[in-house]
Amino acid sequence: MSQAQPLTWSEIDTVLLDMDGTLLDLHYDSHFWLQHLPVRYAQIHQLDIDFSRQFLDRQLRLNRGTINWYCVDYWSAKLNVDIAALRAEVVSKVAFRPFAQEFLQALQSSAKKVVLVTNDHRSGLQMKLSRLGFGKYLDAIVVSHDFSLAKEQPGFWQRMQAIEPFDPSRALFIDDTVAVLAEAEQYGIAQLRYIAQPDSKINREPNQRFTAVECFSQYAKQLQCGQ
Ligand SMILES: [Mg+2]
Repeated sequence: MSQAQPLTWSEIDTVLLDMDGTLLDLHYDSHFWLQHLPVRYAQIHQLDIDFSRQFLDRQLRLNRGTINWYCVDYWSAKLNVDIAALRAEVVSKVAFRPFAQEFLQALQSSAKKVVLVTNDHRSGLQMKLSRLGFGKYLDAIVVSHDFSLAKEQPGFWQRMQAIEPFDPSRALFIDDTVAVLAEAEQYGIAQLRYIAQPDSKINREPNQRFTAVECFSQYAKQLQCGQ
């Protein structure tokens, strides 16, 4: 496991933040794709629930790591359902991860540029922003869908740099997906941090490659103390 060096905030100008599983509890997305959608898909097309689960599980696996996996339009067409409307049915589950809002508030009071970098589709992004109102803490939002590339795919960071320039040697990027962090490391982003437990309802095996964020409250305190 990489050694947990404390972050030196004075060496960071830009903070790049993932949304699902980093700022927000991944439970909303896990619940939607693994529980809610199989049930609603079976209801809408009058299918057996076990068939629905197996079919969706296979389709999700086939598209994992590609932009289709995150694309509401792709799934709406593929499954012949209105994914955005179905996602809205469980919007009450959209929630911050512990102390994420406090961290965002502390970042806003600092001079750092804060950029949300998400693989979510714009319809999901808008729903989450309206529900929790965290857009006011962000200086910019980058949606990978606009480049037709997921964050874990080569070329993503070059495309992002062209529309939202930043100095990788003075940037921190926090994400809950190892493949996404690996691509950011390859690009040369200096500070990388991993969210070990993105879903409040599922315990994940520890990751050996990237340093985990212990708690956002710690980062908020360090920023408030000017460390
Ligand atoms: Mg994520």
